[in-house]
Amino acid sequence: MSMFCYQCQETAAGKGCTIRGVCGKTEETAKLQDLLIYTLKGLSQLVVKAKINTSNKKSMNYDVLSSLFMTITNANFDCDSLERQILKMLKYRDELKEGLNIEGYSDAATFFVKTRSEMLDKAASIGVLSTENEDIRSLREMIIYGLKGMAAYTEHANNIGKENHEINAFIYEALAATLDNTLGADELVALTLKTGEFGVKAMALLDEANTSRYGNPQITKVNIGVRNNPAILISGHDLADLEQLLEQTKDTGVDVYTHGEMLPAHYYPAFSKYDNFAGNYGNAWWKQVDEFVSFHGPILFTTNCIVPPRSEEVLSRLFTTGSTGYPGCKHIVADESGKKDFSEIIALAKTLPPPEAIESGSIVGGFAHKQVLDLADKVIAAVKGGAIKKFFVMAGCDGRMKSRAYYTEFAEKLPKDTVILTAGCAKYRYNKLDLGDIGGIPRVLDAGQCNDSYSLALIALKLKEAFGLDDINELPIAFNIAWYEQKAVIVLLALLYLGVKNIHLGPTLPGFLSPNVAKVLVEKFGIASIDTVDSDIELFLA
Ligand code: SF4
Ligand code: SF4
Repeated sequence: MSMFCYQCQETAAGKGCTIRGVCGKTEETAKLQDLLIYTLKGLSQLVVKAKINTSNKKSMNYDVLSSLFMTITNANFDCDSLERQILKMLKYRDELKEGLNIEGYSDAATFFVKTRSEMLDKAASIGVLSTENEDIRSLREMIIYGLKGMAAYTEHANNIGKENHEINAFIYEALAATLDNTLGADELVALTLKTGEFGVKAMALLDEANTSRYGNPQITKVNIGVRNNPAILISGHDLADLEQLLEQTKDTGVDVYTHGEMLPAHYYPAFSKYDNFAGNYGNAWWKQVDEFVSFHGPILFTTNCIVPPRSEEVLSRLFTTGSTGYPGCKHIVADESGKKDFSEIIALAKTLPPPEAIESGSIVGGFAHKQVLDLADKVIAAVKGGAIKKFFVMAGCDGRMKSRAYYTEFAEKLPKDTVILTAGCAKYRYNKLDLGDIGGIPRVLDAGQCNDSYSLALIALKLKEAFGLDDINELPIAFNIAWYEQKAVIVLLALLYLGVKNIHLGPTLPGFLSPNVAKVLVEKFGIASIDTVDSDIELFLA
């Protein structure tokens, strides 16, 4: 076995990628990512054991978040940038060690590597499988994957100037705990739930950052056709990057379109002032392999999900920024004030043809918490009057597996007196279907990106209050969540922390759950995998 990774839903055979990632990750990339995580664990052990105050270590805190983000599925395939990041984190770690007696610290806090080959040698002994007990390994990895998602959301919030030191402190605490061999399964289950608690805080922080800077999402019609101008496609989740791109492209004759998870940016009022913000092009992340070909213009990745391009021609139009990276792509770095210079992308766009239409018309979204709560009276009346029988939270991710056709069929077959609440790229499985409305309330309410699942939780908590219920699980809401990568893991842990039970998770249960850990999730939280569409609908409506 040359590598081992089982962090995402598409892991080979549902068990683990061992030769090359299904995502395209090579053995070398996988090993460097493992070593980066190991370095972070050692650094965190120093912070926790030596009680180092990190509240004034702004750059280190930010770089810890970025390092975690770089290891999320489909975020960074660039070995050179991973190597640089390892060296940077080792430097921070070694500065923390100065003057400390490091006796009793683990190897992660003391190991030494300098060259790529030393890194790869080291990585061979510290990966996921180095934890022998499969239950402890399963719990440690679930915590780490939750931290990766949490770090991504926190990094976005930081980029908009919002920080929460409590979240940073928890990330150090939890990373250090994954090195602690005295912690057994019960303690790690408790830490898993605590990770969910901080996941809620991270999503709240990002929500506050986004809405305070760009306004609360509003019901918005988004064009899915094209115009006849040269254009740039922006993908990922980072609204601060989008803001800079729109500022730099306005009045240049170059349009900007969103792809994948950037679609919900259209719902924020602050972006509607840009005439060149033309619409959304295409669908969920995995369709980029075809959709980027017909787009013709440059593509900027602000975060995951990158799929290795099929041709040199497409590769020549790809740019990365932030925590993303791909070999052969130009990476745009922020200057000290946080400004990114996108002039090269804009100049390239001007030399290329406009995008080719692959769809036409529009879609509607913008149902985040403020917008839905503004409609609360209407929604509550529809539930009390029997016009809405049930809500289905179908947040989460899309992916390549054929079995995800389940979610389209599920949406189509739901009775007409039900409403789908969605967030994340899972929406692309049904947001272009004509599912109608109930008394003017659309049957698919899109709150936004995967982190906007926080909005869905707030809506559920508000409905609980409005109906005078003690328990969120007494609401007429069913959770049928699709997952793919580690941001979905933190969303799931956040929902568990908020007390949501009986979540159905698909299209398959995580490969990182050992049989015993899966049993705990089933017994304690009622987590279940999906079955057939008909039997699941029958079960949910029973
Ligand atoms: S991220 Fe997913 S597909 Fe990629 S190597 Fe890991 S488990 Fe495999
Ligand atoms: S919804 Fe899931 S797959 Fe899509 S970008 Fe968010 S975390 Fe990734």
